[in-house]
Amino acid sequence: MEIEKASEKLTEKLTEKTENLIPSVAIEVPKNSEEQWSTEKSSELYGIKSWGSDYFRINANGNVSVTPSINQKLQVDLYELTQDLLDRGIRAPIMIRFPDILRARVEMINNCFSKAIAEHSYKGTYSGVYPIKVNQQRHLVEELVKHGRDYKLGLECGSKPELLVVLALMNTPNSLIICNGFKDQEYIETAIMSQKLGRQTIIVVDRYEELRIIIEAAKKLNTRPRIGFRAKLNTQGAGKWVDSSGARSKFGLTTIELVEGIENLRSEGMLDCLELIHFHIGSQIPSIQSIKSSLKEGVRFYTEVFQMGATALKYIDVGGGLGVDYDGTGSSDSSMNYSEQEYANDVVSILQTLCDEKNIPHPHIVTESGRFLVAHHSILVFNVMGINNLSRWEPPRSATKADHPLLQDLQYIYEKLNKDNINECYNDLMQAKQEALQLFTYGVLNLQQRAWTEGMYFAISNKMTQMARTMDDADDIIQGLSQELYDTYFCNFSVFQSVPDSWAVGQMFPVMPIHRLKESPTRNATLADLTCDSDGKLEKFIDPETGKTKRTLPLHDLKTGEHYFLGVFLTGAYQEILGDLHNLFGDTDAVHISLTENGYTLDHYIPGDTVTEVLSYVQYRHYAMVDSIRNAAEESIQKGSLTKQEAKLLVKQYEEGLSGYTYLEDSE
Ligand SMILES: *Cc1c(COP(=O)(O)O)cnc(C)c1O
Repeated sequence: MEIEKASEKLTEKLTEKTENLIPSVAIEVPKNSEEQWSTEKSSELYGIKSWGSDYFRINANGNVSVTPSINQKLQVDLYELTQDLLDRGIRAPIMIRFPDILRARVEMINNCFSKAIAEHSYKGTYSGVYPIKVNQQRHLVEELVKHGRDYKLGLECGSKPELLVVLALMNTPNSLIICNGFKDQEYIETAIMSQKLGRQTIIVVDRYEELRIIIEAAKKLNTRPRIGFRAKLNTQGAGKWVDSSGARSKFGLTTIELVEGIENLRSEGMLDCLELIHFHIGSQIPSIQSIKSSLKEGVRFYTEVFQMGATALKYIDVGGGLGVDYDGTGSSDSSMNYSEQEYANDVVSILQTLCDEKNIPHPHIVTESGRFLVAHHSILVFNVMGINNLSRWEPPRSATKADHPLLQDLQYIYEKLNKDNINECYNDLMQAKQEALQLFTYGVLNLQQRAWTEGMYFAISNKMTQMARTMDDADDIIQGLSQELYDTYFCNFSVFQSVPDSWAVGQMFPVMPIHRLKESPTRNATLADLTCDSDGKLEKFIDPETGKTKRTLPLHDLKTGEHYFLGVFLTGAYQEILGDLHNLFGDTDAVHISLTENGYTLDHYIPGDTVTEVLSYVQYRHYAMVDSIRNAAEESIQKGSLTKQEAKLLVKQYEEGLSGYTYLEDSE
């Protein structure tokens, strides 16, 4: 009895496991494949018009083109660019950055605020600070400082190392440096001393204890520090980063601490050092309602602190959170239900109303939008290595009376399937599939027989899906079968290195082929990366038709001798620095591309990590490793199992491997 139960359990387990291993088959996309395909249809299919924000579109050649600035009409063909880069020896996966898009984003947010300020006759000014934690790559921060010069764009830091970066890079006169994050004496003293370099540094008190350190440091250095208070709002944000605000959030001063802080500064004769009130309710806020309610609470803190006598206050820093529309739906957590202009209007009008009500001068507005500025500017382009083409469109040889009854049953279903009995056939098919797996486990079906049943399963599923598509009431069958009838495309990239948020927080990123968009895609697929981690995959995609997400992406078949390139878009914010070395896949090659009248220029090429570099993070030394291989080779030469020529080749290949790219490369 016991044994029987145990074996039943095991069978159950095995069935579960093997079910997941069942190979998949291609099904036809779109529903009506006879219609002429067009780039317009690809646009709709991949939703590029909604998430592309006019920076990305499909050109007449059926390739994605990048148009950073709508006014200038400059464009570059992303597929041709990729080919050009490969010709130069730059390797896929490639991170392609467009500084022109950064400039467009800086201009856009500044224009939105100028417009809002003019329309409301608001008395204060606007200036942004870029929080470098969103992407600290030197070339990128330098580009932002350069393009932000006309707009007095400042920088924000959230840690000691970031402060040191910001102090070195920020040289725009009158642009702010905002110091957030948890601080110690060293951080605070460095920040205060930077004022003597002419930097406009404001230290934001995130934790009450910091105020004491600031006051002491000010006395020690004999300098008037410029201070901000971060208020802890009760209003919660919304979206994936909702924990950044609310009464129990990590940062900010409670009302009790704010009141004590003001009194403390007053008694030290330093109340006139308090220049700024700050709050931040989290990143990627999807709803304008949350933004408005937190603004109302935050601005009220400003007016109240001012009325308590802190009349040197002149900045309100409303933090980040301005969203990016990753999926074009306008309704999900990866999207937003407002425009950047609405955001600017709401900030300005709420400030104006609440300040006028209390008769307080309008403060200068500071935002710390990071994601908004940098998300669009970089694209990850990678090639597809292969497809799990276990797909069988054609049925296997016909089963005969000599075959196992189960095989005959499947043969029967295949032959007799029609629109009238489709439901019955579907149920029988599911039943037969279960049985086949069990019979194999019990040793009744052999491997060839099991392979036959799988082949027939796919042939029937395929026939059934085609049939169901022409029917009005068979959606549940299509749904049921499509759970398994999709392909896996193996792709040359690492989710963990290049789009970690897709794994960590289920963040959506637009993904699509960057060429062949004049052709109808013929397959549905999920994307698997190079890591051995079963989480290393993308299987949540935008469905522009329904506004929801779907499990698979429509893709083209591979052509022999031709690469198939996909792009993941909007990866400029957070992904690079959060990316990790899972399975020792390192930074990808990166390039900066600027558009010109005659095409483009390659401003920077930043080679990705070599294997040696990645290994050194985990304490392997190039020399010791090569030495170990040399010694092993020497022993084998002595034993006679390796010739000297073979040893030379082996060591050479080993060394080349160490200095090579961590991703897969084409053979010469
Ligand atoms: C992360 C962070 C930001 C940036 O937020 P985005 O949503 O990327 O604009 C701004 N301010 C503070 C304090 C932050 O911690």
